[in-house]
Amino acid sequence: MDADLTRQIIDRLASAQAPVLLTHLRPDGDAYGSLLGLGHALKHQGAKPKLFVEGGMIDMYRFLPGSELVQDLPNAMPETDCLIALDTSTRERLGQKTLSWTRPVDLVIDHHISNPGYGVINLIVAEIPSTTGVLFKLLESAGWKISPSTATCLFTGLTTDTGSFRYRGTNAETLHIAAKMVELGADPSEIAKQCYLSITHERHALKRLVSNTLSIKDGKKSAFLTIFPEFYTESGAKSEDTEGIIEEVSSIQGVEVGSLFEFNSDGGLRVSLRSKGKVDVNAIASAFGGGGHKAAAGIRFTKDAEKNRDLVLAAISQAIASLKS
Ligand code: AMP
Ligand code: MN
Ligand code: MN
Repeated sequence: MDADLTRQIIDRLASAQAPVLLTHLRPDGDAYGSLLGLGHALKHQGAKPKLFVEGGMIDMYRFLPGSELVQDLPNAMPETDCLIALDTSTRERLGQKTLSWTRPVDLVIDHHISNPGYGVINLIVAEIPSTTGVLFKLLESAGWKISPSTATCLFTGLTTDTGSFRYRGTNAETLHIAAKMVELGADPSEIAKQCYLSITHERHALKRLVSNTLSIKDGKKSAFLTIFPEFYTESGAKSEDTEGIIEEVSSIQGVEVGSLFEFNSDGGLRVSLRSKGKVDVNAIASAFGGGGHKAAAGIRFTKDAEKNRDLVLAAISQAIASLKS
């Protein structure tokens, strides 16, 4: 990480008395881990941080220390001397309610390669596979206290964004960072139990319905799943319960690109894309106004769901056809 930029960010964080921390809509483990991890660290430094995300906390991540501090986005811009966006690749993904807020985002801390840098100061480190990993290095450089609670939140972001240290981008440094988090009090098996071995029955029922929609294409090199609105009523699951379902397709042998299309009852479409490495799915998503990483990306369409699904499937087919076999 760039030393001057790191220093600049630390100085800005150190001078904030009432920082407001935000993260992306449809939050995942890295989103909540970043929010709470930095929140704890700022508190230890004597600041009074406020933590917001669209929808507030979800059940799955309530085990994170301090989870009760996470609030739903307020309508009016909260008073702050430092507005911070974490793990959020575009300004829009901070949530509809934030779009009317007049204060610029003071600090953007992220790891999405597609992040354009919409903050006054931007620390975007695509080589580190989670925003909590970026935050860990930042806190280390600052020499700030990393409590067991902070370490637990940061480790949760790192394990979930790397698929338990399986995805590309997991390297020796990732594991060094993870080891230091464990030394500081994160418990890997307890966190794994909460993140991976606590699937609710509703979530499992949704997974079964979605698995049945499997469609295999492109000479078995791509496969996709579909979620229809009625699946939620049939299973009793919530929209947050889709996290991880895409692995049902991306884990199939020989499938280079796995995708998930979620048709929303408002006529919109949410797309998730995963690659095993040969295809750059961030490039595909970016062509449709989405983004993410080379191996994991997403797109959100507000209309023309079926047409857009077909266009994305055609782009995947084209990307696969251009691979040298
Ligand atoms: P998901 O498939 O929702 O788990 O997202 C995969 C990755 O792509 C995550 O890192 C997201 O932050 C990113 N991503 C998902 N949807 C979008 C979008 N509409 N625009 C930009 N980035 C996105
Ligand atoms: Mn995230
Ligand atoms: Mn992330």
